[in-house]
Amino acid sequence: MGIFDKAVAGSLKFIPKPLVRQVARKYIAGEAVADAVEVTRKLNAAGCMVTMDRLGEDVESREEADASADGYIGLLETIDEEGLDANVSIKPTHFGLALSRDLFEANVRRVVGRARELGNFVRLDMEDSPTTDDTLAVYRKLRGDGLNNTGVVLQARLYRTLADQKGLADVSPNIRVCKGVYLEPGENAWQSYEDINRAFLALLEHALPRREYYIGIATHDDPIIEGAEKLIEAHGLTPDQYEFQMLLGVRPEVRKGLVARGHRVRVYVPFGTAWYAYCIRRLKENPKFAGYITMDLLRDPTQLFGKAPES
Ligand SMILES: Cc1cc2nc3c(=O)[nH]c(=O)nc-3n(C[C@H](O)[C@H](O)[C@H](O)COP(=O)(O)OP(=O)(O)OC[C@H]3O[C@@H](n4cnc5c(N)ncnc54)[C@H](O)[C@@H]3O)c2cc1C
Repeated sequence: MGIFDKAVAGSLKFIPKPLVRQVARKYIAGEAVADAVEVTRKLNAAGCMVTMDRLGEDVESREEADASADGYIGLLETIDEEGLDANVSIKPTHFGLALSRDLFEANVRRVVGRARELGNFVRLDMEDSPTTDDTLAVYRKLRGDGLNNTGVVLQARLYRTLADQKGLADVSPNIRVCKGVYLEPGENAWQSYEDINRAFLALLEHALPRREYYIGIATHDDPIIEGAEKLIEAHGLTPDQYEFQMLLGVRPEVRKGLVARGHRVRVYVPFGTAWYAYCIRRLKENPKFAGYITMDLLRDPTQLFGKAPES
C-alpha cells in the first residue's frame, strides 16, 4: 500500500465533515430511504438492477440489532410499493452477529421471510475474517431450509475461499465474488494485487461453468472484467446466468459499457444516516480507497462543488 494512500487516510480526521459529505455524495445515495429510491429509479431507467444497503454495522445491543432488521423489512416493503428492480444487502454485524450468532440468525430469518413473501432477495455481505465461519454457517442453514431467496459473498483475497466456494455447491448457492475490502494478514490472505486477481479469476473459472452456482461478479477492475467476459463467452453463458456488480459512483463508464454489451449489471446503493462512520471506517480499513477517491477528485475537481455527478 502506498505512502500516499496511508497519508490521505491518516489525515481524514482533519477534514471537515461537510467536505467529506460532499465527496461521499458520489458513493452514497443520501440519508433517507427516499434518496435511495430516487437513485434506484434512475439506475433502473439506465438498465441496471440495484442492491440497496442501509448503512450500519457493529451494533452493540439486541434492541439495535432488532431495529436494523425492522428497518430492512420496511425497506423491502418500500421496494415493493415503488415497483423497483432492487434487492437488499445486509451486514451480519448490523444484525447482531458480534453479540451472538443466534441473534444474527433470528434477525436474518425475519428479513428473509418477509422478502420471500414479497418475491425479493437478501444477500449477506461478508465482513472481516473473524465473521466468515458464522456468516457461511447461517447462509448454509438458510439454503438448507429451502430459503433460496438468499445469497452470500466470498472474498478472493482469503486463501480459504476456493474451498468455501466448492463446499457450498450442494446448496446451489448465489454468491457475490469480490476482492474483499478488509485488509487481512498474510497468514490467511493474499497480499499482492496480482495474487488477489489470480485468486479471483480462479473462483470464476471454477463457478461460472457450473450450473449449481449463480455468480455476481463484483469488481471495477479491467483485467477481472475481461477475464470474466472471456469465460462467459467460452462457456456460452446467457445473461440470466450471472451478473456484474459495481458500487455506486465507481467507474460508471465501465458499468455503461457492460450494459451496452448485453450483460446484466447490479449497482450497490448504500444510504442512511450512518454514512460518515461508514466512510471513515472503510477508508481506515483500506487506505487504498483514499487514493482512488483523491485521484478521481483530481481528474474532476468540480465534484467538490456543484451537484453530485451522475451515478
Ligand atoms: C457490488 C459490490 C459489493 C461488495 N461487497 C463486499 C462485501 O460484502 N465484502 C467485502 O469485503 N467487500 C465487498 N466489496 C468491495 C470489494 O471487495 C473491493 O474492495 C472493491 O470492489 C474494489 O475492488 P475491485 O475489484 O474494484 O478492484 P481494485 O483493484 O481495488 O480497483 C480497480 C479500479 O476500480 C476503481 N475503484 C475501485 N474501488 C473504488 C472506490 N471505492 N472508489 C473509487 N474508485 C474505485 C479504481 O479505479 C481501481 O483502480 C464489494 C464490491 C462491490 C462492487
